[in-house]
This record gives sequence, C-alpha cells and structure tokens, in this order.
Amino acid sequence: MTQRILVTGGAGFIGSAVIRYLINHSHHQVACLDKLSYAGNMDSLDPVADSVRYGFYHVDICDACSLDRVFSDFRPTIVMHLAAESHVDRSIDGPAQFIHTNIVGTYTLLESARRYWSTLEPRYQKAFRFHHISTDEVFGDLGGTDDLFSETTSYDPSSPYSASKASSDHLVRAWYRTYGLPVIVTNCSNNYGAYHFPEKLIPHMILNALSGKPLPVYGDGSQIRDWLYVEDHARALVMVATEGKIGETYNIGGHNEKKNLEVVETICDLLQEIVPPGNYPHLKWASASEVKHYRELITFVKDRPGHDVRYAIDASKIQRELGWVPRESFESGIRKTVQWYLDNPRWWQRVLSGEYQLGRLGEQA
Ligand code: NAD
Repeated sequence: MTQRILVTGGAGFIGSAVIRYLINHSHHQVACLDKLSYAGNMDSLDPVADSVRYGFYHVDICDACSLDRVFSDFRPTIVMHLAAESHVDRSIDGPAQFIHTNIVGTYTLLESARRYWSTLEPRYQKAFRFHHISTDEVFGDLGGTDDLFSETTSYDPSSPYSASKASSDHLVRAWYRTYGLPVIVTNCSNNYGAYHFPEKLIPHMILNALSGKPLPVYGDGSQIRDWLYVEDHARALVMVATEGKIGETYNIGGHNEKKNLEVVETICDLLQEIVPPGNYPHLKWASASEVKHYRELITFVKDRPGHDVRYAIDASKIQRELGWVPRESFESGIRKTVQWYLDNPRWWQRVLSGEYQLGRLGEQA
C-alpha cells in the first residue's frame, strides 16, 4: 500500500537520509516538515527535490495552527517524528531551546496528530501510525559494565538533551495509553555518515584534520559509543514505521562499539591513506608546525560535564521481529563517510560559510 509519510525534521541529518531512502527505495508520498533551524539544510534534500512524490512544509512543530493545516492538507497515513534539538554540547550551554522543541514541540505535534486522527474513519484510524524517533541516550550510562540497553532498560538520562528526549518518549507513550493514538518508538545509538552537520564528532574531526587544526578529544577519549551508519538507520526506521507493531519500542544499534579516541584515530589513518597532510585542495592548511601524520593533531581537552562513559544497544528485537540487521560495519561505513566529505566540499563549504541558510524555501507541498 502506498503511504503518505510526513517526516518532521526532514532537513536534518537523519531525516534527510530517511527522505532520500523513501524516494529512492519506495513508492510512498513524502512530505518534509521542518523549521530549518541551524541544523536544517535543504542542500541535503537536493538529490530528491525534483521528485513528484516529495514536498516541503516550512513549519515549526511548536506552531499548532500550522501543524493542523499541514495535517489537513497532506493527510498523512504515517508521521515519522525526527524534529528535535540534537546536539548535547548545545543543550549544556542553553537547555531552554531543548525543552521547548523536544518536549513542548512533541506535545504540540502529538495533539495536532490526535486532532487529525480523531476525524479519520475507523479503518484509517487503525492504519495510522505516529513513529517517534529517539535516542539510546535516554537510558543513561552503562559505565564500565558489559551490559546492553534493551527495550525494557529504565530511563536515566544525564544531559539536558537526553532528559528532553526522555520526556518526549514518555509523552508519546502516554498518548498511546491515554488516547489510543497508534504510536511506535525507536531508540537508536550514535549515527554517522554523509550530510552530517560539521559540529558533530566525525565530520568535525575530518574537516579539522584536513585543515591541519587540532583534533580535540574529550577527557582521555575512552568513552564508548555504538556507531550506526545513517543509511542503515534510515532503512530500519522505514521498516518500523511501515511494519512495526503499534505500542511497541524497538532499539536500533550497529553492533559497533568504539572508543571516541579509536574513532578519531581511524579517521586519521584513513585520511593518511587517501590524502596525506597538507594535500587536500579544498581547505587551507592551518597548522604552524610540520605534521607527518594526522594523528599528531590529536589533543585531549577537558571532559564534558555529565559525560556518559558507555552506550551500547541490544538490537535483537528488531532483528527477530522485523528482520533488520545493519549492512555496514564501522570499517566500511567510516571509509564511505570520509570519502564522501572528501568528494563533496560544496556541501560542507556552504555549511561552514553559512550560505546554506540563505534563500530558504517557503512552503512548497
Ligand atoms: P539534526 O539536528 O541533524 O536535525 C534536526 C532537524 O529538526 C533539523 O532539520 C531542524 O531544522 C529540525 N527542527 C529543529 N527544531 C524544529 C522545530 N521546532 N520544528 C520543526 N523542525 C525543527 O538531528 P538528527 O541527528 O538528524 O536527529 C534526528 C532525530 O533522531 C532527533 O530526534 C534525535 O534525537 C534522534 N537521534 C539522533 C541520533 C544521532 O546520532 N544523530 C541518534 C539517535 C537518535
């Protein structure tokens, strides 16, 4: 059955991967709903912008009237909710925006979805799905243990970001229990891949290394994250949204636990193999001293407050019930990612210069 899928936060890193995946690998109609905060980038949707199955609404999820208009205009059968403030460091410097977008915005979207859903005929009500996309950071810290986060792990968030996402997860489940809104929740580990905003660890390290700038690693770099290639995540999300069981939670992870320092060293080694220091034509080399290997640029900086030591996901439920497994290993995915940044200077140059925010589109769908 052809679905009408409304993707909130569709101009962000994961949302744009979901939309590119839906347009390239399905017959569904897709609308992106995005406020275009600093993290929203229409350039990331260029590959699908001309598709007749794609449309865009320039809307804030905190704006109930505009949301109601989008629901009655697009008439979605599925909502995939990814719009959020997502950067942990920013949540520490300024939590207010995270509370507003992630909690109030999710509440506003839930209410708008419920108003729309309640007007549907029973068979369409039954088929409707509100898929909330969340993070493994809601579970807190596994410390030095060998444990994994499962769907029943208690919530114990550490940062304003993860606390705001945890709150939004609770709201979504409450709307299911209280009002019967058909919801599904997914909690995923750290994503990486193409079109990732350069403030995040992996693109930040790639671009700093290519310009001979220091590679700042928090603490001693021993924090462990479970890395998932973004296209594997997008495929999992579409599977859950279209085939997942209402009221259920699915954890999504890459089975790729790596220390932060290991990730940075891998990036250095790949760059060293492809383009030795000072030889990348699209970035000016800034290092004052002679650098023979990118690893020499690694510097250790004061740890982030409340920094969780280890996250790791048990993704056996989604594998067992929906047959999803990641296709990329960390080694193959990080190689593709490094190569993508080397090959696509225009995308990140427009981000670094701020040009990506000029001439933003109005409503198109
Ligand atoms: P992102 O920051 O790259 O994108 C967020 C998008 O939401 C942007 O396009 C932004 O413009 C939009 N947005 C922000 N506030 C909005 C508002 N008020 N109204 C409408 N749109 C708004 O984030 P991401 O990395 O793509 O993450 C997407 C979702 O996945 C988030 O909910 C995040 O918590 C979750 N998640 C991310 C990761 C990860 O590693 N990046 C891992 C697990 C879960």
